[in-house]
Amino acid sequence: MSKQDRSWTEINLSNFEFNLSQLNKNIPQNVKFMQIVKADAYGHGSVEIAEKAIKCGASFLGVANAEEGKLLRYNNINIPILILSPSFENELEAIVTNNLTPTVSTIQLAKKLNKFSEKKNIITKVHVNFDTGMGRSGFNIEKAKAKYEKILELKHLQIEGIFSHFSASENDYEFTKMQSEKFEKILNKIEKPPKYIHISNSSGVVNFQNKYSNLVRIGLLSYGVYSDESIKAKIKLKPVMTFKSKISQIKTAEVGESIGYNRTFIAKRKIKYAILPIGYADGYDYLLSNKGKVLINGKICDVIGKVSMDMIAIDISKLENIKIGGIVTLFGGENDKMRVENIASLYRGSSYELLCQIGRRAKRYYYDNGKNIAISPLMRREFVSSDYPGNKINEIIKKSIEQRFPQTEISKMIYSNILKNYLNEIDQNVYYRKNFVHKIKFEKSQQQKFSDYYKVHTYLTFEKILENDYFYIACAKNEELLQKYFNRTDVEYRWLLDSNFDLQKDIFSINNVKINDMSLKYKQSISDNCIELKCSHSQLNKLIGQEVKFSIETITYYPKSYHQLSIYITGFTQGASIQFEYDDLFKKVTSVPMFYDKNKNVKIIKEKNSINVSLQKDQWILPNSAVVFVY
Ligand SMILES: *Cc1c(COP(=O)(O)O)cnc(C)c1O
Repeated sequence: MSKQDRSWTEINLSNFEFNLSQLNKNIPQNVKFMQIVKADAYGHGSVEIAEKAIKCGASFLGVANAEEGKLLRYNNINIPILILSPSFENELEAIVTNNLTPTVSTIQLAKKLNKFSEKKNIITKVHVNFDTGMGRSGFNIEKAKAKYEKILELKHLQIEGIFSHFSASENDYEFTKMQSEKFEKILNKIEKPPKYIHISNSSGVVNFQNKYSNLVRIGLLSYGVYSDESIKAKIKLKPVMTFKSKISQIKTAEVGESIGYNRTFIAKRKIKYAILPIGYADGYDYLLSNKGKVLINGKICDVIGKVSMDMIAIDISKLENIKIGGIVTLFGGENDKMRVENIASLYRGSSYELLCQIGRRAKRYYYDNGKNIAISPLMRREFVSSDYPGNKINEIIKKSIEQRFPQTEISKMIYSNILKNYLNEIDQNVYYRKNFVHKIKFEKSQQQKFSDYYKVHTYLTFEKILENDYFYIACAKNEELLQKYFNRTDVEYRWLLDSNFDLQKDIFSINNVKINDMSLKYKQSISDNCIELKCSHSQLNKLIGQEVKFSIETITYYPKSYHQLSIYITGFTQGASIQFEYDDLFKKVTSVPMFYDKNKNVKIIKEKNSINVSLQKDQWILPNSAVVFVY
């Protein structure tokens, strides 16, 4: 419980574990269980519930759609996840990339999934759903065998399971038995049954046994909610979710005064009442108007008047010692009358629904063995970064850094000095380079007009994801001008020119530029003290998104009057070799590597007329690293 919250839920994971152990008594030894965590685990929080269920032996998780499965994968949950509802074609990508198991209940989707898997050169596991009487999703059972065999023919699908779903296992034994028999008939017709066969939900586990299943799907009962009065005698369950709030105001009403919208409650005697800061916007159902019950100091009190969007009124005339801030239970907890199923029954509602709709504003506090082990945020939706566009992500990163480094100077420094170039200026993904090899060779210039300069050959190769069907090589006459090219992701190579140059074609030229083995065309343009070379090829668009090898060879000139050459590594790079060759020009050359990790594993090899500075293949180099050669 947190003092600053207006309303909150407490999720008792020990009770959840207790319920699973009770249910387990009804599950035969050889039968595995799938924890159903759809709709954010019936409002309890799918990540924490999934983690606990896995600890308790769950073999599978069940979700409603790919999005819910993706969220679990983002939270490092690795066990198989079955999508119970039919999927749409546009969800196939998310299904496959997140290793989710879809349900197949139409031939149309099966074929599309097969084709999709074929393109990706993978085999996708599926569960086939037959409708035995639920009348919802699933194949109709006429021609079940033919349909099943049609799916078997799809070579990029592997049928891992076959299932059906009970419509009324909580209280209709006859109908459940009929569904079970229909399902068994299908099973008998199938020659090679798949690995998993399942039909039971949690009420089915308690009320109805069968011999053919080896997997059950556990939902409501594991959350400690009875699906029917009759089940109380068969199994003991403890509520997992408790929904709480606190008193925000205490008032009295005289006889004849009304409370709430539309005057649906009129005091027949003088009453004392409390205002609670929750309403239907918090998931407290509107239909609980004049019907709801809450628990204060161990006593049950009535909701009076209509449930508003953000407030309800409670009759506390019977109570003594009530204070503002006093804690109120809206449902759940130890008192049986406050079970969510009892509160839902006050308006003939569904406990499933009431659980799902709670806490649009309420945080969830997780307790295990009485200890608070986690708090999940106000929003129901967990954070999935790919939901956000680039500039929003940058804002989130910035805010997160500010939160982690509350002294603004540090957070500003980290954000603007280290990350901003990558995140703020460039609103797109940042890729890194691999196996960066850069060779710079100085030689005497033969041309009279460059007599004060060395001729410089540069050879550069690296591997990187290709982002566009072109890229630029650029150079500039001063650092400020060159700087603008650092903030562009379509520039792959930059060179700082001597400021004395009159810019003309042969000051900086390409000798050869390739992607993989393909020589590119290039076009030079000179403007504003910069030279840009645009490199492109009509076939490049086919390689976008793939990792390719860049090879760039240039020729330029470097002033003799300088006594050092700085080679910068401007982007994220893994593995590097930088070689300076100087053709008998200098007697003594030294190198000064400036890498982020204190030059720990830098290897320097000196030979006659060359010096090589290298880092191993798997070593990271952060932006703004450099090697300075001094001669
Ligand atoms: C929701 C669901 C379950 C779980 O049902 P409970 O009654 O909550 O145990 C099982 N199977 C399928 C297909 C479901 O959609």
